[in-house]
Amino acid sequence: MNGKNSPFKMVMVITIIIVALIIALVVISNNNNSESNEGTTSIKQPSNDGQPTLGDSDAPVTVVEFGDFKCPACKVWGEDIFPQLVSDYVDKGKVKFSFINVVFHGEESRLGSLAAESVYKQNPNAYWDFHKALFKEQPSKDHDSSWITKEKILEVANSIPDIDTGKLNSAIDEKSEVDEVNRDSELVTEFEVQLTPTIMVNGTMIEDPFDYDAIKKAIKNALEGN
Ligand code: CA
Repeated sequence: MNGKNSPFKMVMVITIIIVALIIALVVISNNNNSESNEGTTSIKQPSNDGQPTLGDSDAPVTVVEFGDFKCPACKVWGEDIFPQLVSDYVDKGKVKFSFINVVFHGEESRLGSLAAESVYKQNPNAYWDFHKALFKEQPSKDHDSSWITKEKILEVANSIPDIDTGKLNSAIDEKSEVDEVNRDSELVTEFEVQLTPTIMVNGTMIEDPFDYDAIKKAIKNALEGN
């Protein structure tokens, strides 16, 4: 190697490395843009690890609802769409269904979520009865009025034989499941959930959660591995 030329060679080599790095960064950022431009499709799906999940754990398709006990559309979705999904897919072992809490309506949403997480912790088998019974208490009119109170939660819990109401009362006071509520909020941020209910079928976010045909189509695609 020529000793005089080596500093120039070094400069050349460093320049080439820098240019290569810039090109690599531009390519990576373009790839990221094209992924986010896919619109309704996400790269991954929220994990249902530790989430209340209905159905066969081996079911090939996962449907996730991001929902809020204070949200009127979530109540309607739970009454109109959810039962169809359960009888068409969950009961047949094709879909497992998870619910992730969203707290867009503030303190009452947080209290409802905390109570539901506490019921799930205490007895996972009682979770869906509690979930349904709490939504049932949401007033059809004037849903902005305050209705999720600890009194109401304990009243709902009392109607479900598998829940120890005293234990639930302490869990709410001690906020023992607050980490679960916060973990759900992190998923809401991660998946950029803007509206409730938001329904995801494997990695696909359904644009209109009330379009059951779109949900069926997404499940069919997922079952066929598309
Ligand atoms: Ca959760």
